[in-house]
Amino acid sequence: MAQIPSVKLKKNRASSLYRKHPWIFSGAIYSEVSTLKNGDLVQVLEENNEALAIGHFFHGSIAVRVLEFSDETDVFEIFNRKIRAAFALRQQLELVNNPKTNMYRLIHGEGDGLSGLIIDIYGSTAVIQCHSVGMYAHIQDIAKILVEIYGDSLAIFDKSEDVTKEANLKSYIVGAKKDEPLYENGLQFLIDWEEGQKTGFFIDQRNNRKALQKYVKDKNVINLFSYSGGFSMYAQEAGASQVISVDASRAANEICVKNFELNFGAPHEAITADAVEYLKSMSHNFDVIVLDPPAFAKHLSAKHKAIQGYKKINLQAIKHIKPNGILLTFSCSQVIDAQTFKDTITAAGIEAGRNVRIIEQLSQPEDHPINLFHPESSYLKGLVLFVE
Ligand code: SAH
Repeated sequence: MAQIPSVKLKKNRASSLYRKHPWIFSGAIYSEVSTLKNGDLVQVLEENNEALAIGHFFHGSIAVRVLEFSDETDVFEIFNRKIRAAFALRQQLELVNNPKTNMYRLIHGEGDGLSGLIIDIYGSTAVIQCHSVGMYAHIQDIAKILVEIYGDSLAIFDKSEDVTKEANLKSYIVGAKKDEPLYENGLQFLIDWEEGQKTGFFIDQRNNRKALQKYVKDKNVINLFSYSGGFSMYAQEAGASQVISVDASRAANEICVKNFELNFGAPHEAITADAVEYLKSMSHNFDVIVLDPPAFAKHLSAKHKAIQGYKKINLQAIKHIKPNGILLTFSCSQVIDAQTFKDTITAAGIEAGRNVRIIEQLSQPEDHPINLFHPESSYLKGLVLFVE
């Protein structure tokens, strides 16, 4: 194996590595790095030359994303071990070969110790999303390991964006699209991983969709930011008297309507509109509202504006809940922590002049693990509110 270049840390700058936090900021690096390219594999040395970690270099504020906290340099073996550990966890969670739920997240970035890598499993297709050049350089190895775990019949679809595509995955793409039914808790969903958002479906809301079911029997429900109708379908299944979906994406609404036909043989009202405008101008109120907007803040710099955004839509939602109704409200912005989200909803509740109680606090499901040493991997927050 070719010699891996190294970067040396400044004195007393290794403490985050001892805490197993996977990001090394550029200010902690002592070495000259001008010869390194984005995505290069580097060994991280302490001031005394002791090897602490291996990771991917990037000319940016996060200079190294750590792959492994040891002096190990066999990268294939590191991937092999981590992907197999992630698979073992999903087996324990009864997500593997489960006919009722055959889609799940296999690799959740830092949550599974692989910063910059997402792998979602849809039946016999694995959809890979690399979020960094460094990770993308290993996509062949990743594909090879997946085929070793799942067998030759696995199809692999590369959904990586914004990375320099130097690697060639073609030999592993065994029929990119398969016509097989995909289920979540027994409900069938059509998934378009090629054209759809993220890897095709928001797998992270599985448990929260289930949580909705206990509040909807004989109620009228509106699902705002509905995508392909995840929450709407669960509401319909659990006996809601009326379900309406609203999303800005026409393509998502078309899939949503098809999902209703497929599961219930029934038509469905999926409205293509800006959810914020729709909510504001809604002429009647609902027993149950679901509010699951896209991340309002993708970076820390957008945090303040995002808080205003969350407050505004939650205020409107609270105003449009019938007496003793339910609001399920979410934030998937990593930079908005659970307490900030709660405080924002509190401000909306005060302004709405309603009595609001939190009755459930929701998070991300078990196949989106939170790395204890990287609190940023906890991103999905939800509250179930009882609005008097
Ligand atoms: N609740 C969904 C996931 C929502 S993701 C589920 O369970 O699958 C966020 C959705 O918001 C996307 O479908 C996106 O198309 C939609 N969206 C983004 N901006 C919007 C806007 N201004 N108004 C309505 N929908 C919007």
